[in-house]
Amino acid sequence: MKIAWAEVRQVELPLVFPFETSFGRQDTHSCLLIRLGTDGLEGWGEVPVETAPLYNEETTGTAWHILERFILPLLLGREIAHPQDFPPLVRHLRRHHMAKAGVEAALWDLYSQQREIPLAKALGGTRQAIEAGVSLGIEPSVDALLARVTDFLRRGYLRIKIKIKPGWDVQVVREVRRAFGAIRLQVDANSAFTLEQADVFRAMDEYDLLLIEQPLGEDDIVDHAALQAQLRTPICLDESIVSPDDARKAIQLGSCRVINIKAARLSGLSAAVATHDLCQQRGIPVWCGGLLETGVGRAANLALASLPNFRLPGDVSASDRYYHEDLIDPPVTLNRDGTITVPASPGLGFRVALDRVEKHTVRKATFKS
Ligand SMILES: [Mg+2]
Repeated sequence: MKIAWAEVRQVELPLVFPFETSFGRQDTHSCLLIRLGTDGLEGWGEVPVETAPLYNEETTGTAWHILERFILPLLLGREIAHPQDFPPLVRHLRRHHMAKAGVEAALWDLYSQQREIPLAKALGGTRQAIEAGVSLGIEPSVDALLARVTDFLRRGYLRIKIKIKPGWDVQVVREVRRAFGAIRLQVDANSAFTLEQADVFRAMDEYDLLLIEQPLGEDDIVDHAALQAQLRTPICLDESIVSPDDARKAIQLGSCRVINIKAARLSGLSAAVATHDLCQQRGIPVWCGGLLETGVGRAANLALASLPNFRLPGDVSASDRYYHEDLIDPPVTLNRDGTITVPASPGLGFRVALDRVEKHTVRKATFKS
């Protein structure tokens, strides 16, 4: 497939309710959407950045710059036989994983449309539906959090994840356990603690959490190994794993027993599949994380999460978890049994609603070869 043109958009969507993590609080989500055109087909991908470099170092501004100046000039007018030919093309450009991942996602969409197969199948997916979990932000009070948990369990979500930070940690877990009993529960610290605070996590061991996600530094796998050795609860790494090789090293060191896979963090779906495969070979379960994606990114996550070693419920939720109106039709919805059906139609399996994309676009540019 020859890429004739590329469109980059920054979109801004209001969130259904504000989302707070150990990084801070947000009530809108900004990201970039990539649209690639070739041979009468269009492919879509999402760059799930934010306007500030909080989750990782990238932002809407840096991703735009890298796409315009470095990535798209390499791609436009070029014949790409397979999406896996894209990572070698941009390997010499250091980092900027999310910018690369958005383009690669659009190539995977094009590729699977061209072959008239679902994206899930192109990636090696085997599940027809995935188990849906929900990620809940830090709330103003424990009562407010309990109300949120009640709401999402009632909607049918199969697993609850709560964001934690120092001072909003073990006592919150205790309250949620007390109120809801043996639900599937896990926590995510987004690197807000240090090894000196290991007692917080040792105290969590009695609450049967599925896992503790990224308790320590975003660039660390050494202190995590020391912490994991003190805990019965599995540590799951998110921010620390930005390549399949990072996963190999973390597993070898004993830094974690579970890995959260986000294609954007890993530089694309190809690296996400490679990380999945490596973890499967080493007996490490994975699950699919989220970065507040709009439907475009959510659809790709859904396809990815259909691979066989995604053995724990992920953060791929229904569209209405985050947005009043999503950018795809139909929106992603939750089945009665708490699963989400993996689309069986070619490509992403959802129609991108251009009118709504247009309505939420704050910046747009088209690039040609
Ligand atoms: Mg996380």
